[in-house]
This record gives sequence, C-alpha cells and structure tokens, in this order.
Amino acid sequence: MSFDIDKIRADFPILQQTVYGKPLVYLDNGATTQKPNIVIDRISDFYRTTNANVHRGVHFLSDKSTQEYESSRDFVAQFLNASSSKEIIFTKGATDSINLIADAFTQSILKKGDQIIVSALEHHANLVPWQIACQKTGAELKIIPINEKGELIQSEFENLLSDKVKIFSIAHVSNSLGTINPVKEMIAKAHQFNIPVLLDASQSVQHIEVDVQDLDCEFLAFSGHKIYAPTGIGALYGKTEWLEKLPPYQSGGDMIDQVSYISSTYAEIPLKFEAGTNNYVGAIALAEALKYVQNIGLKNIANYESELLNYATQKLNEIEALKIIGTADKKASALSFIIDKIHNYDLGMILDKMGIAVRTGHHCTQPLMNKLGINGTVRASFAIYNTKEEVDKLTNALLKAQQMFS
Ligand code: PLP
Repeated sequence: MSFDIDKIRADFPILQQTVYGKPLVYLDNGATTQKPNIVIDRISDFYRTTNANVHRGVHFLSDKSTQEYESSRDFVAQFLNASSSKEIIFTKGATDSINLIADAFTQSILKKGDQIIVSALEHHANLVPWQIACQKTGAELKIIPINEKGELIQSEFENLLSDKVKIFSIAHVSNSLGTINPVKEMIAKAHQFNIPVLLDASQSVQHIEVDVQDLDCEFLAFSGHKIYAPTGIGALYGKTEWLEKLPPYQSGGDMIDQVSYISSTYAEIPLKFEAGTNNYVGAIALAEALKYVQNIGLKNIANYESELLNYATQKLNEIEALKIIGTADKKASALSFIIDKIHNYDLGMILDKMGIAVRTGHHCTQPLMNKLGINGTVRASFAIYNTKEEVDKLTNALLKAQQMFS
C-alpha cells in the first residue's frame, strides 16, 4: 500500500474532533498512540461474537477464542521476524516485559559482584527494575554516558564490557530525545563477552523496521498502546534457549503442567510466562494493529515520519529562543525542546488551549534531565497520521506563546 495520509487520518476517529473549538493536533504519540477503526471494531466484534476464556474450554467459543489468540501470537512473531511463535509472550506492556526479565535474572542468574549495563537515556521502566535487581542480589548497575548531542558514547560502552556483566538492557529509540541507538553493533559487541541483550523497543517498533533475528537480541520488549493497539497488552520476545532456562515470573493458572498440594511443574514456553487469564482480547487487537502497520509498510512509515521530523526540526530551529534537546544524527519521532524563560509546563498549557497536545516534563527519564541540567522539556512526538500542516500549527502556536511571555 502507498502512503495515503488522508486515508490514514480518516482511519482514526479521534482525530476528527475539535478541542476548545480548534482541530485536534495530537503530538503526544510517544506517550500513547490513537487507535484506528479496524482495531476498535476488532475489540467490539470479538466481544459480540467470540468471547470465551482461552486454553480452558472444550466448547466452540473457547476453541475459537484460543485459535484467534494463538494466531495473534503467530502474527506478532512474524512482525518481529522471530523464528518461532513460542518466543512470543503476551504481557501487559513494555514495563511488564522488562520486569519479567529483571525478576527472572534476579531469581536465577544475578549475584553479588555481577554487573548490569543500561544507558543514560533509559525510561524509568528500563532502569528501576534493574536497580531493584541490584538491591536484591548485590549486583552493580553501570550506565553508558551520552555526548552533548544525546548519543551514547561508544568507547565508554566498550570500556564497560567484561565477563562480570550478566545482562545489557537498552532502549532502541530514546523516548525523550528521539536518539536511535546503534543497537545492532552494540549487541554484537556485547556478544563478544557472552552478554545477553534486552532491547526496549517501546519507541521503535512503530517507527522503524525491527527484526529480532537480524538484531540478534536475546530479548525484546514493547507495548501495544504505542503502536495503535489498546492499553494493557504488549509482548516480550525471547530466544527459545533463554526462555526455557529462565524461571517463571508469576504463577497460577495456565502456566502449569502438573500441580499437587506440595509442588508443581510448569508449562512449556510461552505459557510458562503467562499466568492467569491473560488479556487475550488485547492480544487479538494487537495483532490487528500490527497488520494495519504492516499493510502501510514500515519502510513507508519510516520515510514519511523521518521527513516530518526533519521538517519540524527545521521549523522549530527558526524560533530564536527555542533550543532542541537531543540532536543525534539518527533520530525517530520525538522532538524535545525548551524555550528560554518559559517553563515547559506553561508552554504545554498554552499549546493545549490552541488544540495542540504535547507532553511536558521529564518524560520518565529524570536522571537524563538531571544530567542535561534541565527540569524537563516539551516533547512533540509524531505518528503516521501527523502532517506538515500540524507542524506549522505547532510552530505558530509556539511563536504566539513566546509573544505572550515577552
Ligand atoms: N520504555 C520506553 C522507551 C518508553 O517510552 C516507555 C513508555 O513511555 C516504556 C518503556 C514503558 O512503556 P509502558 O508504560 O507502556 O509499559
């Protein structure tokens, strides 16, 4: 399919509304994306026609529901180019996926003196679980620093690599600065020391092609709601040999094989990691959203969004008092900025009154903001339905806000 922006916009009912009498300009896609009709309809159709708990019943609906759930798993595997559907675990989202791995490593691998590497760009979701893992095991957290453009300093990363490192967990794309990290090269370097790598793809799967076999990461986490699917669903990819050796994270129904009053054996992967009634409707809607993205084509999406980001960067750079935070050579979707003498929160409030939704504050990256010596930024983050006209509206609104403050 070619990139037909009018058609794409028409797919998203929420975009057709006005706020405070102005057409909605939704530029908070890094926080969550809007949902196309096809996903919304899939959820309501499923509840109207198919709903029954999965993996449990012998009846018609239960079987149909299970089949749709498992074929959604197949689709997620295909979308990420995993070698098997067994390597896909449905979770609540990226935070849940990362906590699963951090907990499994805490239980079975990490010990005093071990090290974990993360980067200075991480979202709290890829930082706090590792801090807790360190507190519980006596392992130590090592942080890859950034340069003034918001890129990871590769020589510093190489200096951190050693046999002591038991896992390296890194964002593919920074949610605050938009930096695309050179993860393929970094994964290869980590592998020279047999270090498994967890890729936080929360801000990449919706913008650029992600192929787990090509990247060769051991684990990958993402959230459905950032890729046009509902909240409360996400996935964790893990290489078979790793998922087989890691212990379960949560326990209860569906994750077991045999249970006695004394002890239990566990199901094979992926069900070993899916305790309880999972969000199977969310999983089915996630597959629908991924099909929608795949139909448009990630190459088309990456090209379109990159042109939009370049245009926005150029327009915002024309505003004298405005400073873009994060000027990495390779960026996706997010454009963070500050304006001299105007607090990011005030800017966000003014933009809101003009119908423009942006995110303000620390974007769940407090250590990064501290490192940059700022209390936060305004972040415009783009998705497939945004346009250059919307960028112009943002630019004009910022100029107006500046006048109001001068
Ligand atoms: N990692 C990154 C890079 C993110 O941007 C986010 C959310 O903004 C998360 C992890 C956490 O995602 P969720 O809140 O959907 O679990």
